[in-house]
Amino acid sequence: MNSAEQSSQRVSEIDLHAMAYTDPLTGLGNSYRLRDKVREIADARASDPAPFTIGLANLDGFKPINDLFGPDAGDKILCQVANRLLACVPDGATVIRAGGDEFGFVLPLVFERKAAEKVGAMLREVLSAPFDLGGRNVRLSASFGFAIYPFAGDEFEDLLKSADTALYRSKRRGRGQITVYSREIAQEMKRATQLEQALRNAIIGDEVDVHFQPIVSLRNDTVVGFEALARWCDPDLGYVSPSIFVPLAEERGFIDALSETLLRKAAKTALTWPKELFLSFNLSSAQLMDPSTSSNILSIIDRAGLDPRRLELEITETAVMADADVAQKIIGELRSHGVRISLDDFGTGQSSLGRLRDFTFDKVKIDRAFVSRISSDRSSEHIVKAIIAMCDGLDLEVVAEGIEEFSESLKLKELGCGMGQGYFYGKPADAVATLRYLADKYREPPPALSVAI
Ligand code: C2E
Ligand code: CA
Ligand code: CA
Repeated sequence: MNSAEQSSQRVSEIDLHAMAYTDPLTGLGNSYRLRDKVREIADARASDPAPFTIGLANLDGFKPINDLFGPDAGDKILCQVANRLLACVPDGATVIRAGGDEFGFVLPLVFERKAAEKVGAMLREVLSAPFDLGGRNVRLSASFGFAIYPFAGDEFEDLLKSADTALYRSKRRGRGQITVYSREIAQEMKRATQLEQALRNAIIGDEVDVHFQPIVSLRNDTVVGFEALARWCDPDLGYVSPSIFVPLAEERGFIDALSETLLRKAAKTALTWPKELFLSFNLSSAQLMDPSTSSNILSIIDRAGLDPRRLELEITETAVMADADVAQKIIGELRSHGVRISLDDFGTGQSSLGRLRDFTFDKVKIDRAFVSRISSDRSSEHIVKAIIAMCDGLDLEVVAEGIEEFSESLKLKELGCGMGQGYFYGKPADAVATLRYLADKYREPPPALSVAI
């Protein structure tokens, strides 16, 4: 090889190297650059491990904007974000795009939480100014997660994981939040991991149980179905609420295994009830984002021998909106097999009624927050009244959740609410107690009022 060839080979090696470390859209470095930069600083400080900080920023609500204005507009915004971040990070910092709408930084001179929060607040401010889409302005917010070396991890992978955990926490708290990975978070993560292990074992050992809470017709106070509610009591950890362990199973990626055990048990129990009673089962948000959910559910109840027309699935507005296309497909498939869909916790989500119109539901469950204030608070009464009127107009059934008092049931009957559920009618109870409840309370509904199944 002559020297010209050698130098052109070197140039292309350099090009290739640069390409491998560059985000083609924004010209920023990519995740490899972040990794190398972190390792470089960590090595340089090996003898005196002075702290430094890495950060992740994720744009809030970028996907809907991308969907609405198109990918070119999305790219424009990402490039403007890159420019602003580059222009504003403190001296000596590195900015990279990790992919999608996620950016990262290395801040060699940020040593502690307050300073990281200050940088986060400044960058959040800078990103909150409108983005120019050629004649149209768009506003966005961003969430941040920071991790300080070496406390939050002395290897790049651990440090990044900590920053990711901090970012995830910001996202969970809403928009525009800043979180720095702390000792408390580390403690919580440890507890969550213990809980995860115990729950995984409980699923394998078949120790997670299902209880059932009656849902009654408010027209004649007869039971029309039961809602299945997960119950878990660990020998060491004691009773753990499903509002803790269900989200944990979602977060750690084993909600399918948990849900399968629960549905299998619930369906088997439902077979012991009079066949006009329905089984209402909660679906978690992660399940509504997974296209295989409908076939999984159908095959579980098929194996158990439960008629899909006896099954209702409770889903929340927020879960529906997280990935509307997939949710719609799942709902459509399930409904085509006769499964009915209830909108749970109605009134607490963030979706608009306009967007909900695009989905087909069978039933709406009015959240306990409105029901518990119905006797004392006029505005709650008006909201409940409005929801009942809306459901009447849309031909949807209505269930009021969390009825604890006779006075509440009376008020709801007065307002024309079709069904109710709550401690007043019965607390969640295990399969055996539920059969006793039925033997005690269940009367065949008069033919004209029987539930159409
Ligand atoms: P949810 O679906 O809104 O369930 C209703 C919750 O209200 C249950 O809490 C129930 O025990 C409670 N409740 C019912 N009537 C009354 C009442 O009159 N007063 C009061 N104060 N509370 C009442 P629980 O069993 O602790 O479940 C909490 C949440 O955990 C559920 O809220 C649901 O989101 C989730 N969850 C429970 N089981 C499952 C499950 O099998 N799968 C999924 N994905 N989520 C579940
Ligand atoms: Ca529910
Ligand atoms: Ca509910």
